[in-house]
Amino acid sequence: MASGLRLALIAHDQKKDDMVAFAAAHAGFLADCDIVATGTTGQRVLEACPQLAIRRLKSGPLGGDQQIGALIAEGSIDAVIFFVDPLTPMPHDVDVKALMRLAIVYDIPMALNLATAEIFVDGKKTAERRI
Ligand code: PGA
Repeated sequence: MASGLRLALIAHDQKKDDMVAFAAAHAGFLADCDIVATGTTGQRVLEACPQLAIRRLKSGPLGGDQQIGALIAEGSIDAVIFFVDPLTPMPHDVDVKALMRLAIVYDIPMALNLATAEIFVDGKKTAERRI
């Protein structure tokens, strides 16, 4: 069943392995989603899961996070999964903060770590089974 969920995937460098593992574990669920991702995250996920259709935007530090923020503002994103590295200073920290702010403004579910992403996917799967 196609969920049609419009999902954004982002992972900081130290979290990209986690994102790849998450995508591989939930490839069936993700296959029914309309996915956009920041450049390198999308590339890494596609290498592991070439069956997924992922529209890759710019790399995060080059504006990818802001592109996803713009998509949220225009109503084109239903949820964000963003594996944040809390231990490394980022040149684009302000972009990350701006993206989080827009997710709050538009009340978009935003999972910032693996535990929350798992709960989100479980919740969506349960909701779909009820339909
Ligand atoms: P990337 O961007 O997927 O292009 O690495 C993610 C980020 O650092 O915001």
